[in-house]
Amino acid sequence: MIPSTMTRGLPRLQFDSPQDERLFDKGSQAARLRYFMISGWVSLLTYNGFLVVDWLVSPDVFALGVLVRLVVFTSFGMATMLIAQIYRHVLLALPSAATEGAIMVTGIMAALSVAVVLTSPNMGHSEWTVFYHGGFVPVIIYGTVVQRLRFRLAAMFTGAILMIHWFCMALAYREATAPVVPMLLFVSSVAIYTLVINYRLEYEERQQFLRQQRGRVLRDQLDRSRIELEKAARCDPLTGVANRRAFDQAMQEAWAQARQQGSHLALLLVDVDHFKAYNDFYGHPSGDQCLHVVAQVLQAVASQHGGLVARWGGEEFAVVLPAQSLAQAQDVAARARQAIQAANLRHERSTTAATVTASLGVAAMTPTTSDEGWAGLLAQADAALYEAKRTGRNRVSVLHRSQAMAE
Ligand code: GH3
Ligand code: MG
Ligand code: MG
Repeated sequence: MIPSTMTRGLPRLQFDSPQDERLFDKGSQAARLRYFMISGWVSLLTYNGFLVVDWLVSPDVFALGVLVRLVVFTSFGMATMLIAQIYRHVLLALPSAATEGAIMVTGIMAALSVAVVLTSPNMGHSEWTVFYHGGFVPVIIYGTVVQRLRFRLAAMFTGAILMIHWFCMALAYREATAPVVPMLLFVSSVAIYTLVINYRLEYEERQQFLRQQRGRVLRDQLDRSRIELEKAARCDPLTGVANRRAFDQAMQEAWAQARQQGSHLALLLVDVDHFKAYNDFYGHPSGDQCLHVVAQVLQAVASQHGGLVARWGGEEFAVVLPAQSLAQAQDVAARARQAIQAANLRHERSTTAATVTASLGVAAMTPTTSDEGWAGLLAQADAALYEAKRTGRNRVSVLHRSQAMAE
């Protein structure tokens, strides 16, 4: 899957794929909620810090400030955060708009509480009370930069705060006097700039998400390629079974495991009979096809007994059979021989049968700590195969230990 880009809609803060949009939203929700809590408590502190300003304006405003800020808004803010904390899992299960909504409501409530103090008759009209209108600036910053509402909501939030601000200004000042205009420009320009910052922050966050998604896709592709490469390095391309390298490794592991558990380990060596004649008569490509069929037939039989088939070389195959005794392995070999014959591949140049046949050598051992490794098992299976060839082909041969030692 290729991650999408952001080319849709204005202001281009939306992923083309709705699935990416959901992932982005859900992925950041828990962190955003946590951040809402932490910065919420900090914001409550700074908000109440403005009581100093109320006190400086007049004792009457201070009394109102205590009521509005400390009693009403602080209780509301604390209750919101406590509820959000207790019902955290519910909020996280809801769309992220629920958390964003809570942030917006707390911000708008803060602005309204500032407005209540501002429009109170106790406010008086000294020439510097206009600065009190600057109290909307921290509220705007709270929504756009501190809580970082998503851009669309941040724009709505800023619009709402500006409207409250303008309303208070209009109520307090009937005409555009000297201090009013700079204050209006100040609050409005802060609103615009913080929205620009908010946009940049969300844009960067989304770009970062896309980079992470692309990284994830690339890593997945790389993992898949590595697995395929490893598989290819262990597979014989012509027949589809394990190659010699994989055989060596499987044998090594099976030998170590059998030695550790004191169990049997059996090995079959399989050689297609009169294969040179087959090749000469039917052609090399048909020979290849024949090898593929034989390999698949062997695989089908071996897999029923937990065995691994490998191409030993040319028209020879090896079958590793962990935990199989000699008698069991002999049985598997007999089935394999029958299955190859039952595949019914015509072989007009065979002096053994009318179809393709194979000879099989069987050996089994229980490895001990003193022996030299699986070379002995291989040598026994090879000698057994030779015996199968010598005594007429299309048969299974087992070399008993005494015979192997005599040779
Ligand atoms: P025997 O019954 O004694 O095993 O005789 P044989 O003809 O099967 O044995 P020999 O070793 O004389 O010939 C094996 C032939 O296998 C020779 C070679 O051309 C053929 N061969 C080896 N690898 C491949 C291969 O990848 N594709 C094809 N088509 N033939 C192969
Ligand atoms: Mg051969
Ligand atoms: Mg052969």
